[in-house]
Amino acid sequence: MLYFREWGEYPMNSLQKRILKDGKALPGNILKVDSFLNHQIDIDLLRLMGRDFYELFKDKNISKILTVEASGIAIACYAAEYFKVPVVFAKKGSHKNVGPDVYTAEVFSFTKGPSYEIAVSKLYLHPEDKVLIIDDFLANGQAVLGLQKIINEAGASLVGAGIAITKAFQPGEQLLLDAGIDVRSLAAIESMEDGNVIFRSDS
Ligand code: 5GP
Repeated sequence: MLYFREWGEYPMNSLQKRILKDGKALPGNILKVDSFLNHQIDIDLLRLMGRDFYELFKDKNISKILTVEASGIAIACYAAEYFKVPVVFAKKGSHKNVGPDVYTAEVFSFTKGPSYEIAVSKLYLHPEDKVLIIDDFLANGQAVLGLQKIINEAGASLVGAGIAITKAFQPGEQLLLDAGIDVRSLAAIESMEDGNVIFRSDS
């Protein structure tokens, strides 16, 4: 399938096609993808996305994938199938059940209230780890910056961030690029005006 833009046309990946078919652009620049990505999950789509993430980062010697609960976990697991590495997910809120030895970060959330804490046990991140962050959405970049802080505290290396859907008209992507993070997205949305999703040509 081809998506037509004023300057031409280009082939879309599976996620982009699915967003156009089943995604709902809501007022407030929220894209609802509940029917296939973060409530009901289409595992065939996630498998294809996992392969796409692998193609983007396969040369980077990744040893671990890091994400945040809950929506990132399934996406990260399918990517991990291709990289053949473990997935670690940061837990949100009280981390009493994670144990006393944790790396933590405060994440400011525009969509889910003021802020929340994320925590990863020190058992699962090590200085020799080359870490790929995977997440479902990139909007203001705060979740990825929180994960970056945790990776830094562990003395591990952040190799890049693989994002399913980047809302490129919001500040997060530029913030992460300015922080030196190699951010790649399967679907970078340039605009969502009047319910019409337009992808950026390089995603
Ligand atoms: P950020 O930290 O980049 O501002 O936001 C990341 C988190 O906010 C994502 O992991 C996701 O849970 C949520 N989020 C941001 N924008 C959207 C959106 O348009 N739709 C949905 N479903 N979640 C979003």
